[in-house]
Amino acid sequence: MSFRSYKGNTITEAGWRICDRNECEIVNTAPFMNTAPLRKGAPAIILGALAKYLHENVRPFTSPVWGWSAENSLADSNHLGGVSLDFWAPIRPMGRYTMPANEVAATKRGLELFPEVFWGRAWTGNPDEMHFQMRYREGDPRNDAGVRRIVGGAPSPTPPTLAPSVSRPTLMRGATGVHVSYLQALFNRAYPLYSKLAVDGDFGPATEAVTREFQRRSNLAADGIVGPATWRALGVK
Ligand SMILES: [Zn+2]
Repeated sequence: MSFRSYKGNTITEAGWRICDRNECEIVNTAPFMNTAPLRKGAPAIILGALAKYLHENVRPFTSPVWGWSAENSLADSNHLGGVSLDFWAPIRPMGRYTMPANEVAATKRGLELFPEVFWGRAWTGNPDEMHFQMRYREGDPRNDAGVRRIVGGAPSPTPPTLAPSVSRPTLMRGATGVHVSYLQALFNRAYPLYSKLAVDGDFGPATEAVTREFQRRSNLAADGIVGPATWRALGVK
């Protein structure tokens, strides 16, 4: 039997069948994911991609991640169906708000990239900051759309890669286009503490402010203009 009932329940809170371990797989998208089986298909792909984002942009994983479980204190827990993950468990206890504001903001940006995921922090009365789960029920076409988006590669939390031979134009207030989008995505990814830019390809006041902040921290002239020295400091030739 691959699907089962648990304490009289066959469906999890989010609307997925409660399953055995053999309906799950391990996706090694981030450290410690080998302790977190995920239901094959959309949950493995979507939650696996979310894990990579959270590890790289919110807080590195240094403790086991939890996924599918055979038992749970709740009879309809999404862990019973392999459609939820718990990250940073030792430092993010259930029922309390312990996450610093910058990590909350970075997590929310990540959830904009993965709208198929629900964050347990939103449960009023019993917040669960370590817990992330599938938002839509099994069979909902929005899950498949998420898979296509992730497998197709866009939008992605990683800046788009451009051919290395492309030379970088000098960018300043008023500039528009793909190089500005690249810069904004690069800032957001590399400096999430102070860069929360809309990746809109429009070099406005917010992009200029992040540029100045980066330049100050890099001991460059804080002129808000991205020229060769600033590109170099960003690791872009
Ligand atoms: Zn959980």
